[in-house]
Amino acid sequence: MMGNGKMTPAENDFTVNADAHGIVATLYLDEPHTFLHVAALITLLDDIFSSFKPIRYQRPRAWPDSPGNSNLSRVMHVARPCERSPTLADCHDLLEAHGDALSEFQSEHELELVVQPYRLFATHRDAPGLAVFDMDSTLIQQEVIDELARAIGRYDEVAAITEAAMRGEAPYTDFEASLRARVALLKGVPISIWEDMKGDVITFTPGARDLVKVLRARGWKTAVLSGGFTPLANWVARELGLDYAFANHLVEDPESKTLTGELVAGKPIVHAQKKLDLLHQLAGENDIPIERTIAVGDGSNDLLMLGAAGLGVAFNAKPKVQKAALTRLNGESLLDVAYLIGCTRRDIDAALAGP
Ligand SMILES: [Mg+2]
Repeated sequence: MMGNGKMTPAENDFTVNADAHGIVATLYLDEPHTFLHVAALITLLDDIFSSFKPIRYQRPRAWPDSPGNSNLSRVMHVARPCERSPTLADCHDLLEAHGDALSEFQSEHELELVVQPYRLFATHRDAPGLAVFDMDSTLIQQEVIDELARAIGRYDEVAAITEAAMRGEAPYTDFEASLRARVALLKGVPISIWEDMKGDVITFTPGARDLVKVLRARGWKTAVLSGGFTPLANWVARELGLDYAFANHLVEDPESKTLTGELVAGKPIVHAQKKLDLLHQLAGENDIPIERTIAVGDGSNDLLMLGAAGLGVAFNAKPKVQKAALTRLNGESLLDVAYLIGCTRRDIDAALAGP
């Protein structure tokens, strides 16, 4: 980063070896911008992370997502070398401790900011891993059970259970109890509803297709871990090209071609703990160390997997989840997650141009 806010060509090819200590901040600007902002942010981050002893003779370095034309970049990274590496939790705690100054900065400059240890960023940049996603309100823009209930005119009843569960009221104190109660209300729903939902109701979150394409091009394994239902989770996986899909199994009556209002006995319920177990299971099956995993979700039943993954991103999450997660990102496109694993715009364009 030079004093006049322009990038030098050499700095456009930013490569630091994965052993380097420090932090990397990823900035998402509202619109392409010159990087005068960044000097102020570097000063602020320097202050926030001073307990990690900046290496004085190494200046923070910034590089944009559009090498060669930094004025067209919407996303940029700033790396700040330190004598030792903070953990993700350190990054979170230090940012929280300076929350007021950062909130002011973020609203003044209309930007999103994610800070992570440089080593984690470099690990995800340099070797493929495993990415797991929640489905409802993460890969797709709907809550499927609400849409099913709406389709049969029982939305209010289902929503009442959801709200009672969120308040922790008996008998809905756990996910399984509230799931079974809501599923019971779906008795008699024709199974043709799945085709209707795929055609008219379900919309993919902007950037979901592209993110999965980028991950696959880089050799990542991908999965949807859903507290919803298999007919849609399997379809979402096929549509997006995900390697795995896990969700809850509803019993269908083959005679009447309707749902019975029950879950298939013996099939595991996909709740928070199951999502966590599946993250570990899929990482193990693919010989991927847990550090090389990312998880993306928005709900409280995603918090365990978000906390266990190498990088767990609360994406456009419920306020409670944003507060509890170590890393949060709000924005219009799920593709923004690709920058957090070290992709540049050029990497993304190359992946999207491929087959
Ligand atoms: Mg969700």
